[in-house]
Amino acid sequence: MKQVSMMIDLNRCIGCRTCVVACRNHKEIIDHNKAVPDDIPYYLRVETREKGTFPNLSMDTWVVPCQHCGEPKCETSCPEGAISKAPETGIVIIDPEKCTGCEAKSESIAVEKRKVSPCKGNCPANINVQGYVNLAAQGKFQEALKLIKDENPFPAICGRVCHHPCESDCSRSDVDEPVAINAIKRFISDLDLDPETRYVPEIKEKKDEKVAIIGAGPAGLTSAFYLAKEGYQVNVFDRLPVAGGMMAVGIPEYRLPNDILEAEISVIRDMGVEIQTGVTLGEDISLDSLKEDGFEAVFMATGLHFGGRLDVDGEDLPGVFNGLDLLKDSALGKKIEMGEKAIVIGGGNAAIDSALSAKRLGAKKVTLVCLEHRDEMPAWDQEIADALEEGIEIVNGLGPLRFMEKDGRLSGIEFQLCTSVFNEKGEFDPQYDDCQLTIMETDSAIIAISLLGERDFAENSGIALTSAGGLWADPITLQTRIEWLFAGGDTVSGPKTVVEAIASGKEAAISIDRYIRGVNLSEDRAKEMDMVSDVYKAEYDPAKRAQMPRLKPEERVGNFNEIEQGFTEEMVIQEAKRCLNCGCSCIQSCPFSVIQFDGEGGKSHKCDLCQDRIYAGELPVCAEVCMTEAITFGEYDLVKQWAVCDGRTIVTDLSKGSMLYIK
Ligand SMILES: Cc1cc2nc3c(=O)[nH]c(=O)nc-3n(C[C@H](O)[C@H](O)[C@H](O)COP(=O)(O)OP(=O)(O)OC[C@H]3O[C@@H](n4cnc5c(N)ncnc54)[C@H](O)[C@@H]3O)c2cc1C
Repeated sequence: MKQVSMMIDLNRCIGCRTCVVACRNHKEIIDHNKAVPDDIPYYLRVETREKGTFPNLSMDTWVVPCQHCGEPKCETSCPEGAISKAPETGIVIIDPEKCTGCEAKSESIAVEKRKVSPCKGNCPANINVQGYVNLAAQGKFQEALKLIKDENPFPAICGRVCHHPCESDCSRSDVDEPVAINAIKRFISDLDLDPETRYVPEIKEKKDEKVAIIGAGPAGLTSAFYLAKEGYQVNVFDRLPVAGGMMAVGIPEYRLPNDILEAEISVIRDMGVEIQTGVTLGEDISLDSLKEDGFEAVFMATGLHFGGRLDVDGEDLPGVFNGLDLLKDSALGKKIEMGEKAIVIGGGNAAIDSALSAKRLGAKKVTLVCLEHRDEMPAWDQEIADALEEGIEIVNGLGPLRFMEKDGRLSGIEFQLCTSVFNEKGEFDPQYDDCQLTIMETDSAIIAISLLGERDFAENSGIALTSAGGLWADPITLQTRIEWLFAGGDTVSGPKTVVEAIASGKEAAISIDRYIRGVNLSEDRAKEMDMVSDVYKAEYDPAKRAQMPRLKPEERVGNFNEIEQGFTEEMVIQEAKRCLNCGCSCIQSCPFSVIQFDGEGGKSHKCDLCQDRIYAGELPVCAEVCMTEAITFGEYDLVKQWAVCDGRTIVTDLSKGSMLYIK
């Protein structure tokens, strides 16, 4: 049999649901008399959409069956290898013999198994964490890498620097400790470092349209990755001499080595993305020049690259550094004279990185002074622990009053007591007691208090700003008030994290692709995830959480060597087996939510285009019962020919595989 296809004519479907009922009756997998109606699995559903999804289309309901995707994510994610695409017909099938329902036990609750596991639900990039952890448990690292990179082009970087919200509500915490997900991801993703094992996605047919991206940080490069995958010609421009944004010039090498960054960026270059460094928007290029050069859309991902000032006396003395400049100069290999003693001012992660870098740049004694009490410090707990472990002294509750001078350079800092940092509304509003003063001698001071963006180009180009001074963009589509201009990452959200910038870059790519194709930008974008809360815990691997091997503090002196050493393969497999399999990997990976879980049988189910019937020369039941002949079934090439005859248009947004929608 040749490759088959189903075509749904959106102008003919009247949303009567006859096909849904016929499908349930034919493929009944649950006792309808016992089940709550809402819990009955179905393979087809009829969705009501916002009017105007497709211009000139009057209908607002349509049928959503399995799309039999070209590259099915459910197939990649199944640790049992139970899902495959039949090579001759293109039908995606679940093998009931191999499917274990992700270890669904008879007592496991079917409704819960249909939900999203907290690791995926809490990940800003919505990676199918359970899927890759389960693949890793079986040693299927290459498959796991592909699954991760469906959602995140920088997993080896995230495996080192992510604040891993995936671990925060891990169901395993109810038993003992969360699964060490980030360390597992890091091991898998290090396959990207080797040209033999790295994963470079397949690029779809080349498109003529060009997209420009300003900023080669994680937001800009992620967007470049997904747009290049769609076939667009993508040019990234960045003012720095290196690509990577804050990943290159903010996060120090002892947490994120350069070769890791370079390996993951080189995949993007190899996908055909041109990254031009040393090019500044507002100086070398402008929005007008990009338009003249034929770019259809622009994504602004310019981040926050300026450090805030304290505005106190002596701030410009020699010996006073801005934290971001210091980290950037250190990353770019510039010589920096720290002296014996250094004081860092600030309580966030950038301040901790400045302090640990100052130590590596030669300062013998480094003190971090901040307004906040220890439990109010914005730095992550692990970062504070790292600083203390390396002998950084942390002094809480002081604010700088003035920088003192001797022989034309910095000699000390006078501080006043900070009595409170936040007001009753929780806003930053520090109060001081200027009678309680402290002087600390120092050779250098590093100010690491806030991150600011550059706004000149925005003001000159008519880009709207928010009241907080960020670029304004629609929160869902990231479109600015200039139709062809999109903005995301830190420059829109304020200071966030790498994985949040990745999530933003991904959304920008979806919007830009839709914008260029003239498809509604906001349809189906809201992400509401129903997360698993009741997990089967009667049986589990009793192993304790594996601990990350780290360099000892004395081994870190005077060098920027990576502190965390990574898990071994044995550790990864053992750790991955601790996963409680809250949900089902395939259900969580399906972009169309068409896979169902059968509580009684403990298996996943989905539309197989009524294989039994088509092999017997009959139509799938939905096509047979459709009263308006809105569903057509046949050989792929023939169906495609019918689709375009009489001037009908294939609605490509939904035609991901064998399923064609026409209007
Ligand atoms: C010191 C420090 C440590 C951090 N540590 C962590 C961490 O451990 N984990 C974590 O998840 N996050 C961390 N972060 C935060 C994280 O790095 C950022 O949230 C993330 O990089 C933001 O990504 P972005 O793409 O929006 O912007 P950026 O990474 O800032 O990239 C923006 C890019 O735009 C370029 N650009 C700006 N203006 C122009 C212009 N006019 N023309 C051309 N190019 C321009 C810049 O040169 C830059 O390369 C850290 C941040 C800092 C400062």
